[in-house]
Amino acid sequence: VPALRFSQVDLTYPDGTVAVRDISLDVASGEFVAIVGPSGCGKSSLLRCASGLIAPTRGSVQVDLSHLGYVFQDSTLLPWRNVQQNVELLAQLRRIPKEERNELARSAIELVGLTGFERHHPRRLSGGMRMRVSLARSLTIDPRVFLFDEPFGALDEITRERLNDELLSVFQSKRFAALFVTHSIYEAVYLATRVVVMSSRPGRIVAEHVVPFSYPRT
Ligand code: ADP
Ligand code: ADP
Repeated sequence: VPALRFSQVDLTYPDGTVAVRDISLDVASGEFVAIVGPSGCGKSSLLRCASGLIAPTRGSVQVDLSHLGYVFQDSTLLPWRNVQQNVELLAQLRRIPKEERNELARSAIELVGLTGFERHHPRRLSGGMRMRVSLARSLTIDPRVFLFDEPFGALDEITRERLNDELLSVFQSKRFAALFVTHSIYEAVYLATRVVVMSSRPGRIVAEHVVPFSYPRT
């Protein structure tokens, strides 16, 4: 079984808007799938179905929610908690003992390159660094599936490129199943092993493209 499976998923909002229509898609561990398509074509809605935030109107989503990570553009960090405390949040909610929690956070913080910033509060960090904190927070739960909704969309291009490289190196060491929504075909092709194109109205997949082995992914 793939780490994430959408089977004939429809999502219609209560006001009648059809956001997702008949989507079947598998994402295996070690696969990085990018979803591209025009604004309003249902990309975020599809991710919300995967995250368990909304139940599909029809069809099903199979995913292990206890090992699901996500970074969305508006992923909120708790402003009154420092980096260390933000990264520990999920482990704390799971009642993981303090020692173990500290260690999980330490290694996640190291992986995203924020060692030394543990005591900083989010407001003192740049946008790029805040995204790294969100990424680290999800890494503490040993994600099998990782959802990204335009995570770097609000950042300048240079920061965005650097974060893309950092994300790829995290992906290469953890080998989760990644589903990454972006407007940018460039970003999709750079990051993904497979690109899925959605079309607006009515939220269908209209094309799929396996990216040739062009980036050092081993
Ligand atoms: P994308 O992420 O590709 O921009 P969305 O998934 O956000 O697309 O939106 C898909 C469609 O669903 C759009 O027509 C949008 O206006 C509509 N939509 C999104 N959220 C809601 C909601 N909560 N209620 C009703 N319609 C919504
Ligand atoms: P932005 O997203 O605002 O463009 P960056 O994430 O690139 O910002 O970081 C902004 C500043 O913080 C840069 O000057 C960068 O050198 C510094 N910085 C970012 N990450 C680290 C880090 N891991 N160690 C030291 N400095 C860092």
